[in-house]
Amino acid sequence: MIDENRILETFLEYVQIDSETLNEHNMAERLLLDLRELELETWTDDAGAKIGSNARNVYARLAGDPALEPRLFSAHMDTVKPGNSIKPFVSDGVITSGGDTILAADDKSGICGIVEALRTIIKEGIPHPTIETLFSISEEGGLNGAKNADYRTLSAKKAFVLDSGGNVGTIITSAPGQTKIFATVTGKSAHAGGAPETGISAIQAAASGIAAMKLLRIDDETTANIGTFKSEFATNIVPATAVIVAEARSRSEEKLERQTAHMIECLEAACRRYGATLECKTETSYLGYSHRQDSQIVKEATRACESLGLEPLYRASGGGSDANVMNHNGLTALVLGTGMEKGHTTSESITVKNLIDTARLCLALMTGN
Ligand SMILES: [Zn+2]
Repeated sequence: MIDENRILETFLEYVQIDSETLNEHNMAERLLLDLRELELETWTDDAGAKIGSNARNVYARLAGDPALEPRLFSAHMDTVKPGNSIKPFVSDGVITSGGDTILAADDKSGICGIVEALRTIIKEGIPHPTIETLFSISEEGGLNGAKNADYRTLSAKKAFVLDSGGNVGTIITSAPGQTKIFATVTGKSAHAGGAPETGISAIQAAASGIAAMKLLRIDDETTANIGTFKSEFATNIVPATAVIVAEARSRSEEKLERQTAHMIECLEAACRRYGATLECKTETSYLGYSHRQDSQIVKEATRACESLGLEPLYRASGGGSDANVMNHNGLTALVLGTGMEKGHTTSESITVKNLIDTARLCLALMTGN
């Protein structure tokens, strides 16, 4: 049985450990301590050094029945800003922050669910397969902990990632891939009053390219957005450069390619029209994935939800998570909802019920009960 007071207490403690992205050191140390207290085998990697974080990805293993398939449970340790000095409040079964910070239910609800399920298994001696955990750094803003994780140290091929909104029972069956476009439009400077006809306005060319683009919601599985448009000159100078950073996402690889190409073509055409030059670089932020509803891992999550009386709810995600990286690194990874609400805002909250249900779901998935 999940200890409802213990998980709430752990959650309130964990959210008060500052761990904004790249500053996860204290959270990682605390988790290592808690996992070792359970006598789990723990280890770390050198992901932090590669990405400029003061922490490492934290792994743990609880060896179990070798006849059963090992499984990985994962959640991320970092939070968005403002995530320091969080003061959680519990009122009427709902946990919130003081209103001046996030709550960090994203993703400490996932961490607590996993840790509480492990504590329950160990305390009650419940039979289980080998259970591994990966608590990642720097998920927010780039999945960089997961991208630099050492998957060779894991034996599990199946992973459950506790990191989504939606009541417990929410099963994310697919997530988009994302491409970033970094473009620099170069025109020619000239005195805007004296000889503007000898100049080429980079702002005009870039803006004309952007104006021709299909952006925002493209279709039910594709989106696109310009995040940065930078060019600042005095008004008496024809601007020589403009920098654009944009993204496209789609759950269809083909559509993602098409949208990315479309955005670049718009810029190219505008540059040709104005005689400007375009320098363009694209970067794959992460790849998408999709699990069929009748796939083994979705069926398993469905069974676990039903065994707990939780209604399974299948959803496609509009964003990436560590599971995007895992699904392309030899694991089959499924994202599950923990009930976190209004993530990435100072109104973030989670109900105590969802927190407890997250642990119950982890326990069911860990033990097959
Ligand atoms: Zn998250």
